[in-house]
Amino acid sequence: MTNRRQFLQSAVAAGFAGAAISAQAADVCSKPAKWDVETDVLVVGSGGAGLAAAVSAAQGKARVAVMEKLAFVGGNTMLCSGYYNCADPERQQPLGIKDSVELHIKQTLDAGDNRADPKLVRILCEQGLPTLHWLESLGMKFDSRIDQAYGALHPRSHLASKAKGAGYIEVLKKKCDELGVTFLMNTKMKRIIRENGQEGRVLGVEAVKDGKSIFVRAARGVVLAAGGYAANPQLRAAYDPRLLTLNTTNNPACSTGEVMLAANAAGAMLIGTDYIQCNPGLAPGRTKGIRQSLHLVVERYIYVDQRGKRFVAEDQRRDVLRDAVLNLPEKYGYVIVDADGFAANPKAAQNDAIRGLETGDSFKGETLADLARQMKIDPKALQETVDAFNKCVDDKKDPQFGRKPAMLTHKLLKGPFWGAYSAMAVHHTMGGVRIDTKARVLDLDAKVIPGLYAAGEVTGGIHGSNRVGGNAVLDIHVFGRIAGANAAQGV
Ligand SMILES: Cc1cc2nc3c(=O)[nH]c(=O)nc-3n(C[C@H](O)[C@H](O)[C@H](O)COP(=O)(O)OP(=O)(O)OC[C@H]3O[C@@H](n4cnc5c(N)ncnc54)[C@H](O)[C@@H]3O)c2cc1C
Repeated sequence: MTNRRQFLQSAVAAGFAGAAISAQAADVCSKPAKWDVETDVLVVGSGGAGLAAAVSAAQGKARVAVMEKLAFVGGNTMLCSGYYNCADPERQQPLGIKDSVELHIKQTLDAGDNRADPKLVRILCEQGLPTLHWLESLGMKFDSRIDQAYGALHPRSHLASKAKGAGYIEVLKKKCDELGVTFLMNTKMKRIIRENGQEGRVLGVEAVKDGKSIFVRAARGVVLAAGGYAANPQLRAAYDPRLLTLNTTNNPACSTGEVMLAANAAGAMLIGTDYIQCNPGLAPGRTKGIRQSLHLVVERYIYVDQRGKRFVAEDQRRDVLRDAVLNLPEKYGYVIVDADGFAANPKAAQNDAIRGLETGDSFKGETLADLARQMKIDPKALQETVDAFNKCVDDKKDPQFGRKPAMLTHKLLKGPFWGAYSAMAVHHTMGGVRIDTKARVLDLDAKVIPGLYAAGEVTGGIHGSNRVGGNAVLDIHVFGRIAGANAAQGV
């Protein structure tokens, strides 16, 4: 027991700010004299994973409380573009798209360099469509279109009708309210309490509210759904030092990682924590501005550098795109679309581009030359690049970079043309708490920690080294739903 605790303390300390966390690990043994709140299932975090778990646990007839450190629900899910991947014959076949659960599994495993747990990936992909139908049964609306989102690798991305993830959160929160779920807002989880230090059943958690400790007892289980650590520069740089000074696409108040570390201190295994994803974000050095997303519909955009040249196949994996941008001398590129490409983007992305004209994050020119001048690119070079790309569309072949024929469908022809800064910002952390297919948290011996469940970005093992775009919104709802249902049953 002592050795095990010492190991955990040193493992956590090596990964992050040692003193504070070591103290937390040492403190892990103490149980409160009394509990301030009692419930059956406690969900920590009110993003998509947390609210899906709360609804599912309440549907399983448990009393449910959701603990959220901020004053509002939604987490990063509220900000997200809302793309949800799954093979869906009803929507894909009329559009001539061939797909299957098996292809989705294969592409997810391949894209993550086979570092993901194949059993979890199977659940992720098999449960995609039933979970989409579950969300629809709760009132969630999706557009009839199917896209290939940035880094998605196949046209199976469903676009939520309500922009920026708000649709998921509104629907799930409304259902929580109908089912009588309690919300403990402005309450930050600090540590997990087990029967006997790092052994035995999880009894509940200690949290901080208004500067005071409160203790919450969860008779059937605690579901960790507190998101990732993309907004914690020290923690992410401990795993990947290149990422210390980058911007993040996340809400800086949400993705701070302390719940993952508290799980580790309570005996949970962490996996894949140095797999950290970047996505287009603000230009380097800009701390304020409007993040641009004209890259969302992959077949419609090209990526160019400050010299007006393409430098990567735009339909590549996200880690390939990240490394290509980080290898540019300026560490940013520009996303270019024409008028039709602009119109094909989700409304929220269009609005961000329009607002970005005021803040200098985006550019618009009636002609390509006009656009190039605004971006301080040689107009002749940009014209040559677009002409060469349009020829690739004619030939259905991209000899220089290898963009796939299915993504060579639309030329850039019609003004006005739009350009948007696109640097790399830390976006998603693929590693975290290790779970099994029932979303139960596993310890260092791969044994289930009784009473502890986890779902969403706080977990690891689902995406491997590189997450497929559109697979996270899938992940949080699939595993949130599973975690909630199993916690309610005490499985
Ligand atoms: C801009 C953006 C666009 C994206 N677009 C897409 C997309 O289109 N498709 C896709 O698949 N993925 C997308 N992603 C990724 C995806 O949105 C996230 O991975 C996912 O929403 C995470 O959900 P979650 O429920 O795990 O965490 P979150 O939604 O981040 O929720 C976690 C919650 O836990 C709370 N919390 C944290 N610590 C504590 C604590 N100690 N105590 C109490 N509460 C705590 C946080 O405040 C937060 O409310 C996007 C991400 C971003 C940032």
